[in-house]
Amino acid sequence: MATDNLLIEIKDLHTYFYLAEGVVRAVDGVDLRIKRGQTMGIVGESGCGKSVTALSLMQLVPPPGRIESGEILFYRAVRGNNASTMTEVVKITDLKPNSKEMRSIRGNQISMVFQEPMTAMSPVRTIGAQIMEVIMLHQEVDRAEARRRAIDMLARVNLPNPAQAIDRYPFELSGGMRQRALIAMALSCHPSLLIADEPTTALDVTTEAQILELMRTLQNDLGMAIMYITHNMGVIAEMADEVAVMYLGRVVEQTDVQSLFFNPLHPYTRALLKSIPQLSDATAKKRRRLEVIKGMVPDPYSILKGCTFHPRCEEMIPGVCDQVLPMLIEVEPNHSVRCHLYGTP
Ligand code: SF4
Repeated sequence: MATDNLLIEIKDLHTYFYLAEGVVRAVDGVDLRIKRGQTMGIVGESGCGKSVTALSLMQLVPPPGRIESGEILFYRAVRGNNASTMTEVVKITDLKPNSKEMRSIRGNQISMVFQEPMTAMSPVRTIGAQIMEVIMLHQEVDRAEARRRAIDMLARVNLPNPAQAIDRYPFELSGGMRQRALIAMALSCHPSLLIADEPTTALDVTTEAQILELMRTLQNDLGMAIMYITHNMGVIAEMADEVAVMYLGRVVEQTDVQSLFFNPLHPYTRALLKSIPQLSDATAKKRRRLEVIKGMVPDPYSILKGCTFHPRCEEMIPGVCDQVLPMLIEVEPNHSVRCHLYGTP
């Protein structure tokens, strides 16, 4: 397969958590490819493995979890002798989480914005001190230059009075302002990939719209790729170029954003789309009940035979879907799906 313009390639990744109650297969065979400058949306219900996939990519899986098998490749751009740009392949899954090389990638070439900035930032240090620490860790600059760059980054994320705001503590800022400061910290070293894990979930809709707009602008300015994790299909429609739908630790459908919304193939994707309230419902004379996906995401310790969506699927084929695990296959150009409706086992 061509690797032109490829930034991240995840191959058959398995990340498990070994608990006293049993093994949680949080990521159970994920394949994913993210191109340079592209926004890859990762969507699915809570517990489907979106965040653990991101943590695996950063080598930040907390114990008792660990990457069990699979590969994560980072196609890093490096400057050649004659100022030309070359690509070097770094196998992230071979690096120790605390190794020098992994620390030089994390927060520098790949960085992350979390859902709740109050837990992602230290409450006892100013936002400036935290942004400057990231800059000085990865770039050879003194304190004065790091401060200048931090103020510049705070200005880029539209934080009012950045020269004063730099000396404020996280608790002195509103939720939206804290999220802007966290984005400034994540972007302070101009990463090739920004992982945004539900960055607007804790915000009101007006602030959410401002943060999404800001991320799009910064992406255009800095040319980075974004891995955008959310359960919100509306945000996916607004932000993503490509989308991967995850269910119980696996990608079940992957395609471009137009195909996903206008030609969804997997029954789980179709159910997710049907469960979004429509504006036409509010204006229609006849009211209709909002559709929900029947059943619940199964217990994380259970091992289901066949397709893991079969207990909730309205198109389940008895004797096939509950027996054989479907493979992820490309059924149309750039449109892959993991479902027996599109291929025989
Ligand atoms: Fe439904 Fe079967 Fe497809 Fe699974 S494989 S999504 S159970 S039709």
